[in-house]
Amino acid sequence: MTRKKGRNAGITLRFEPYELHLKHVFTIASGSRTTTPVMITTISWNDLEGYGEASMPPYLGESHATAQAFLSKVDLSPFSSPFLIEDILTYVNRIAPGNYAAKASVDIALHDLVGKLMQQPWHRIWGLNPEHAPNTSYTIGIDKPDVVKEKVREASGFKIFKVKLGGGNDKEMIEAVRSVTQVPLGVDVNQGWKDRNQALDMIHWLSEQGVIYIEQPMSKMAVDDIAWITGQSPIPVIADEAVQTPADVEKVYGAYSGINIKLMKCGGLRAAYTMVNMARALGLKVMIGCMTETSCAVTAASQLSPLADWADLDGNLLISNDLFEGVRISAGKVLIPDLPGIGVRKI
Ligand code: MG
Repeated sequence: MTRKKGRNAGITLRFEPYELHLKHVFTIASGSRTTTPVMITTISWNDLEGYGEASMPPYLGESHATAQAFLSKVDLSPFSSPFLIEDILTYVNRIAPGNYAAKASVDIALHDLVGKLMQQPWHRIWGLNPEHAPNTSYTIGIDKPDVVKEKVREASGFKIFKVKLGGGNDKEMIEAVRSVTQVPLGVDVNQGWKDRNQALDMIHWLSEQGVIYIEQPMSKMAVDDIAWITGQSPIPVIADEAVQTPADVEKVYGAYSGINIKLMKCGGLRAAYTMVNMARALGLKVMIGCMTETSCAVTAASQLSPLADWADLDGNLLISNDLFEGVRISAGKVLIPDLPGIGVRKI
């Protein structure tokens, strides 16, 4: 369903549900899936359009129905200019609690529109050097060794892989990857480990295998266990499920070494930029991540990547029916497009 808001030359929001198809079955510690529902948004003003996206993997609790209900309430027609980003996004945030992916879809489209009006990409508006964009990791889901080896071979241009663990075959997964490549690895357990002593033993073993960070080794509720692990871990421990919005950054400080920031968790570029700066002020490491998304949201996130220690911006590469072109990966590195706004074109 498409719905139009506002009239004449005012700011209007449209949105349309879409379903992403994954190239491979994607399995992490909490389950498997082959599709992801997204909502594509368009904000228009004076003949210019900005694009946005909400990606809603089921475990986060949003859906086409919730996003449609939320976005139907968004009325941008009273705002005189899209440059009033603070006013507009404060209004959007106050419409209802939660709904972070839906909020991100408005935030991204608004940033795209404003960047186009300024005729500059956001990394330049923020004063960031695109040459400082890091290598992106390519995610390897939990699978049988032969499948893992094949996936790593197919992705041989990448300079770092993020390997999903916590499925009960951790060493087998790492050994399969290592039989194909010697590049650095990150590991994401998605809260899958239950015992802190076993977790720390495994982290020491992983470190010896060339793993350079470990993400969410245990439940986000196990704060004391994770702080204990972080205190003794030879590699940084990164919070993902444990940190969603700017308000969470201070909560994970002391228990983790860094945070994984995703536009869909926090509500968009404005909140993500705030989180980067909070993390830096607290001495935390920064990862810019994504969900399974089209190139729209992934390219928006890439605008922030020069500020990150690590990028995990492969969500658009895992799908077979992208709607946009934007960020590219060259020799493993994030290549931010030099296009105004978030840097995408519709295919
Ligand atoms: Mg993660």
